[in-house]
Amino acid sequence: MMGSGMRFRAMVAAVGLLFLAVTVDAVAETKVNSVRLWRAPDNTRLVFDLTGPVQHSVFTLTAPDRLVIDINGATLGAPLNVNSSNTPITAMRSAQRTPTDLRVVIDLKKAVTPKSFTLAPNAQYGNRLVVDLFDNAADAAPIPAPTNVATVAPVPVTPVEPAVKLPPAPAGKRDIIVVVDAGHGGEDPGASGSRGQREKDVVLAIARELQRQVNGMKGFRAELTRTGDYFIPLRGRTEIARKKGADLFVSIHADAAPSAAAFGASVFALSDRGATSETARWLADSENRSDLIGGAGNVSLDDKDRMLAGVLLDLSMTASLTSSLNVGQKVLSNIGRVTPLHKQRVEQAGFMVLKSPDIPSILVETGFISNANEASKLAAANHQQALARSISSGVRQFFQQNPPPGTYIAWLRDSGKIVQGPRDHRVNPGETLAMVAVRYQVSPATLRSANNLKSDELKIGQTLTIPGTELAAKE
Ligand SMILES: [Zn+2]
Repeated sequence: MMGSGMRFRAMVAAVGLLFLAVTVDAVAETKVNSVRLWRAPDNTRLVFDLTGPVQHSVFTLTAPDRLVIDINGATLGAPLNVNSSNTPITAMRSAQRTPTDLRVVIDLKKAVTPKSFTLAPNAQYGNRLVVDLFDNAADAAPIPAPTNVATVAPVPVTPVEPAVKLPPAPAGKRDIIVVVDAGHGGEDPGASGSRGQREKDVVLAIARELQRQVNGMKGFRAELTRTGDYFIPLRGRTEIARKKGADLFVSIHADAAPSAAAFGASVFALSDRGATSETARWLADSENRSDLIGGAGNVSLDDKDRMLAGVLLDLSMTASLTSSLNVGQKVLSNIGRVTPLHKQRVEQAGFMVLKSPDIPSILVETGFISNANEASKLAAANHQQALARSISSGVRQFFQQNPPPGTYIAWLRDSGKIVQGPRDHRVNPGETLAMVAVRYQVSPATLRSANNLKSDELKIGQTLTIPGTELAAKE
């Protein structure tokens, strides 16, 4: 942990130096070629794509509300067009103040609080200027439904079905809360596949499906860290988990590796003694770098929180890590039935999102998007569903054995209501859904819902999840 933390800070310092070095001799040869926009629940992010480094300043004007962005050492390379529906932006104009200074004026429906920073080129993009328009607190719950208005068409994702939500549990029998984190988002696309599949899209589709499945399990509730195509800093993701009262945090990713032949899914828990393999170390760095890509890296990191986290970490990390490894192993065994595994056991690495000291946390690398075969599978709805099913099964198995006190699942266990935990059943020739239902004394409807079946047709060799059987009649 120490090692990766220091590496992270060293990277921040290195990026800072880089800016210093390049901005000194910046001249007006930089062109602003395009602007991209993402809407998050509480902010709007604008990313200006530049051909080189710039200096800039941002300020607001009132009556009417406007945001002014002065980009020094730049000229306009192409008209700036964005789709600003569902944002506070009504229009965007630009003019050359001097031959070398470009001014962009954004007309606003309401006042915003801006934050801005520049980013150095990376593998996907060149120099960028990022301007975040934060909604003011007074406008709480302002603009719903984050909309992806990125310029690149997303890969096909699983159609989102309405979540099946069961009636709330009675007092003292609260739901177990699983926070599902789709990695990357917005300006940070994550890894990419050879046919343009993007990690951020694939993992969001899997996360949504996982949420739907978990919400269909009595006694469980799932929440997402991000619900659309926008970036959340890594620390923000663990903060969301804490605010939602997570009993478990599951971060969903897809791998990339220098070798296009690398394949298979992996499950990670936090390492307290550094990465356990070369691959794990490589991955940990590329995932942590996400914060730099997304922008939090060279803005402000809260040192006080980091110190407090360090203390808490020592106190309760051991217990959380034991649970993380346990749930991780169950998830891994289930994933192994639907896709090849990269490693047969839970790996450990210093991923930033796993560093909640008090919330068991796992990171699932669902496959290698850098592998052409796995990339097409990852983008397919039926494979996304199967992956989500294997994760939700592992999570359910873990909590049925280790229910947090005060939850419905703990109450079930303590009143001896679970006579048999969930199992898998492989369909034999000639077997119908009704026959399987009778054999395990569950209703066909329960089987359909537990397996997300759209029809009663079964395939020979198909694996069905048989939910835990309760003695008690339905409440
Ligand atoms: Zn990732």
